[in-house]
Amino acid sequence: MPEFIPPFSLDRQNAALAAEVEAAALRVLRSGRYAQGPECEAFEREIAPWVGGARAVTCSSGTDALHLALRAVGVAAGDVVLTTPFTFFATAGAILLAGAVPEFVDIDAGTFNLSLEALSEALARPRTRRIGAIIAVHLYGRLADMPAILKSAGDIPVVEDAAQAIGASLVGRPAGAWGAAAAFSFYPTKNLGAMGEGGLVTTMRPEVEAKLRLLRAHGSPRRYAHDILGWNGRMHELQAAILRVKLPHLAGWNQRRAQIAAEYGLTPVVAGHIYHQYVIRSSRRDALRDHMRELQVGSEVYYPTPLDCQPALAAYGNGAPCPESLRASQEVVALPMFPELSVDEVRRVREAVRSFS
Ligand SMILES: *Cc1c(COP(=O)(O)O)cnc(C)c1O
Repeated sequence: MPEFIPPFSLDRQNAALAAEVEAAALRVLRSGRYAQGPECEAFEREIAPWVGGARAVTCSSGTDALHLALRAVGVAAGDVVLTTPFTFFATAGAILLAGAVPEFVDIDAGTFNLSLEALSEALARPRTRRIGAIIAVHLYGRLADMPAILKSAGDIPVVEDAAQAIGASLVGRPAGAWGAAAAFSFYPTKNLGAMGEGGLVTTMRPEVEAKLRLLRAHGSPRRYAHDILGWNGRMHELQAAILRVKLPHLAGWNQRRAQIAAEYGLTPVVAGHIYHQYVIRSSRRDALRDHMRELQVGSEVYYPTPLDCQPALAAYGNGAPCPESLRASQEVVALPMFPELSVDEVRRVREAVRSFS
């Protein structure tokens, strides 16, 4: 029996980086600085080239980054925020946490990202509430069609949900450098993962950066002065130090993911895609997964239920129906994807899919 190939594992990366990570952790533990200090500041500087030189503000998670970004670009209580239902729950959860209401816009079947046609329809629909923002999700590590989305949006701020897209780009311009603000996640399974929680907001606009820094620290520009209502969105120094160990490897890891995607060869190669997930579709998805499992090849489904069908969001399914999101949730399957997959494992995954009939 061949060894099981998991859809994702950190074991090999952790083993390779153990000495460096442990040294960085010890440095922080001995430093006496644990929350939003010099490690976080250094990380904000070091990650800037990855986001096209945008201003980078660390925070406690990707969810927090989305929530901060929405507030910082001016989303107000009662606003509508347009986004797709084919994403992780946090995209819509953050809209509600910011006091706004999500309205779901369907995806494009080929890219899994916001459909331009559906977006135009939503923007043209008569409504009583103001549209406070549009969240464009770069799902699976592939950029949404930002030039077209920004054009349709006009004056409405576009926030990038770039949680899965650190290092991804479109026409040479990276995720995080397009919208009024962008949110990244360093959850351990992301392409750049902390050993705990972490997030980042980026923006090209100095006034948005200033607002983000205030919001992250209880609206406080100086100790015990509070200009606006914010909250505690600080990142841990330990996580920043670990992310600084990993950041120099990110280019190589993303390249290796793209190489694995090319070797799988089951979908067209997409320039600038960082393959956070490698996703194929099948009308017999569950049978395909059973077949793969028999050959000791794991797989996953992101996401089995569109957000407009989630109990927590049932009250907000007030936009147009999203048939492509529903169909995608029934057909997608993510193949094993992490940079440390061996040549032989990549071959076994490909054969497992190809031998399904
Ligand atoms: C991971 C993720 C988030 C949330 O990030 P956390 O760091 O887990 O809070 C938001 N949106 C998408 C698309 C994600 O994949």
